[in-house]
Amino acid sequence: MQTPVCRLSHLDLPNDVFIKRDDLYPFSFGGNKARKAELFWEDVEALKADYIVTYGSSSSNHCRVIANLAARNGIPCLLIAPQEKSEKTFNRDMTGLFGADVLPVPVEHVKDTIDCTLEKLREDGYSPYFIMGGGHGNLGTQAYVNVYEEIRRYEEEKGWKFDRIFHASGTGTTQAGLICGQLLSGEHARRITGISIARRNPYGRDVVVQSVKDYLKEQGKDTLYEDKYVEFVDDYTEDGYGSGSPAIDAWIRRMLIHEGIPLDETYTGKAFAGMCDYLEKNRVIGQKILFIHTGGAPLFFDYLMKRDYDECTGAELRNEK
Ligand SMILES: *Cc1c(COP(=O)(O)O)cnc(C)c1O
Repeated sequence: MQTPVCRLSHLDLPNDVFIKRDDLYPFSFGGNKARKAELFWEDVEALKADYIVTYGSSSSNHCRVIANLAARNGIPCLLIAPQEKSEKTFNRDMTGLFGADVLPVPVEHVKDTIDCTLEKLREDGYSPYFIMGGGHGNLGTQAYVNVYEEIRRYEEEKGWKFDRIFHASGTGTTQAGLICGQLLSGEHARRITGISIARRNPYGRDVVVQSVKDYLKEQGKDTLYEDKYVEFVDDYTEDGYGSGSPAIDAWIRRMLIHEGIPLDETYTGKAFAGMCDYLEKNRVIGQKILFIHTGGAPLFFDYLMKRDYDECTGAELRNEK
């Protein structure tokens, strides 16, 4: 399913910025987790699995999408979640609405718990299917190899190419998929930059590299790997996962007011703000930039619940442009 690409035309930006609206991907509020989930579901069906187990915080986009998928198809879903302080979030509420079971465990016991749970389910006669946190793995990577193909098709229709691509990078397969798509296409010129939302280097980049290698290996194309194409920027992680900043705040408001596009503090707002700062610092001007909106709409509403906009005047907001 091809998602739309829109040009940002109401903000005065020094580059020609376009957004690929993967947040409009048509399942469960869209986003990259919905794209990945679709491929996992095909695998579940092929293997005739009848129980889905995954890992992630119950407030994550990944868990919401997987719980929705399981509920739609009438099979049980268990979310193994790290023990965390329990904040109310819209994703968590929806996970409940979908009837998924949540099993909270201390982080150090996650791996054992997953192994035991799968074994127990098999003993009980189920055929469980396990999906790694964030939809990690070659199928997750495949989802964004497909997106790279969509981008190429768009460019072919338009008769020009984007100079650079940016997106929020977390567990790494969104970035790995885009990079693999580029390597497989034989185009090697353009930079695909992942703005890290939490992980620091070298770890964050290493995980992307490993995902790229794993996928290429599976395709029998190991020799295509080139290290210089993995750019993982960790300058904008703030205080880690979910932490905001006044700059992120300003971009969320600007993008919603002037372009009508919602961003959130954890992923897309952080990455968009990071991208703008990065472009400025590196004096990139007049280029065609593609930002991939990886979704997370429910997090926009979490963000909104925490804010009080009553004190802002319309004139103040308009001046921020
Ligand atoms: C999970 C997520 C990401 C990061 O994707 P990875 O493939 O884990 O790097 C980016 N944006 C949103 C909205 C997400 O939910």
